[in-house]
Amino acid sequence: MLKVENLVVAYGGIEALKGISLEVEEGKIVTLVGANGAGKSTALRTITGLVKPKSGSITYNGVNLLNMKTQDIVKMGITLVPEGRRIFPNLTVLENLKLGAFFRKDVNNINNDLDWVYGLFPRLKERNWQMAGTLSGGEQQMLAVGRALMSKPKLMMMDEPSLGLAPLIVKDIFSIIKEIHNQGVTILLVEQNANAALHTADIGYVIETGQIKLRGEGRDLLNNDEIKNAYLGEN
Ligand code: ATP
Repeated sequence: MLKVENLVVAYGGIEALKGISLEVEEGKIVTLVGANGAGKSTALRTITGLVKPKSGSITYNGVNLLNMKTQDIVKMGITLVPEGRRIFPNLTVLENLKLGAFFRKDVNNINNDLDWVYGLFPRLKERNWQMAGTLSGGEQQMLAVGRALMSKPKLMMMDEPSLGLAPLIVKDIFSIIKEIHNQGVTILLVEQNANAALHTADIGYVIETGQIKLRGEGRDLLNNDEIKNAYLGEN
């Protein structure tokens, strides 16, 4: 579905990605785990056209995404739930969700999808008219995911959905990721929380200072001593 090959991205001469390759097969949950500054967000931002690479290729179902505008990439069925949620604090929950459907042409289906999102996140339905900036951190993350779903993605990419959330809320977020996946959405998940991400994912990639160090099935990586020492700690 998504294929990234030898991707090099530099900011002002410093390479944040030094030739990474990864693949997301349709119907899978794939995770990219790594420490702060390893280049995870850069990878997602490049796939969505927000950052231009120096070299390499990105294709989606065989279509070259390089040089495409972000809005055209969204129209093809790829969406990004950005790090730090980036919801619109002075708009209501409902208004934020509707903005997620901004590029859609099939306006008649938008209300059905709103029901779909409210089914996944009853809390958002209850808080329909609340200003998004007054939601709790976990609720804001739900809203960011809900807004992304309103674009009706085939591939949803998530940048550190667990960041700054209490462990119980993190559990909720990961179970909702599984639920969304069960409903047919392919997922590329970027996480520092390697433990939770590798438990959830079919396939994991480990990125270190702009390079992919390891690739494997999620549960195999959880048992890998190198990964245990570097990323899993005692948890
Ligand atoms: P984190 O988990 O902390 O967000 P990350 O793995 O997502 O880390 P990136 O945000 O992709 O890492 O950053 C990779 C490297 O690129 C870092 O050294 C960072 O300082 C640098 N970088 C990221 N964005 C920019 C930018 N706009 N300009 C210059 N350097 C940048």
